[in-house]
Amino acid sequence: MSVEVLLDEKIIKERIKQLAKEIENYYKDKTETLHAICVLKGSIHFFSELMLNLNMHVNYSFVHVSSYAGTESTGRIRVKSWVDEPLQDKYVLVVEDIVDTGNTLRYILNYLKKYRPADLKVATLVEKEKYQHGIPIDFVGFKVQDVFLIGYGLDYEEKYRNLPYIGYLKNT
Ligand code: 5GP
Ligand code: MG
Ligand code: MG
Repeated sequence: MSVEVLLDEKIIKERIKQLAKEIENYYKDKTETLHAICVLKGSIHFFSELMLNLNMHVNYSFVHVSSYAGTESTGRIRVKSWVDEPLQDKYVLVVEDIVDTGNTLRYILNYLKKYRPADLKVATLVEKEKYQHGIPIDFVGFKVQDVFLIGYGLDYEEKYRNLPYIGYLKNT
């Protein structure tokens, strides 16, 4: 197996810088403080890089959910840890690594709505092109074809998260 690079480190970092500007613009007349929620584990590097580029106050929360086994979505969402900060009347941004079937995101959003935030938005580094679930995603880094991606936080059976680029596995 070898790794074919799809998005290199420079492209990822440049795009995240642009996304941070879009996000700042969106919130600038609405709130001084953003509540950003990192969806572990896959979003760790995207979240970190995005936050470092955001020129506004941000509170951090972390949730840990999983739904994948190997390269397939199981459709069953397991919540391993959840936010314990009050989110009522806050401006909340969910930061995801990748949206595929949309099941995980739908679950997270439905749950977070119960906290009655003032505003609930989503940023994802990657959206798969086949994605057709109608959940509006407000800030999208890259749209990619339907391949199983690894790197920059994304794993295959817990490996490859620490690759500084995004790619896919190829039989060689
Ligand atoms: P969904 O519920 O939208 O089908 O999948 C969401 C979660 O599955 C993502 O947050 C991610 O953790 C995992 N996932 C979806 N597609 C991929 C992929 O191409 N590569 C990897 N490594 N994980 C993925
Ligand atoms: Mg995720
Ligand atoms: Mg995974």
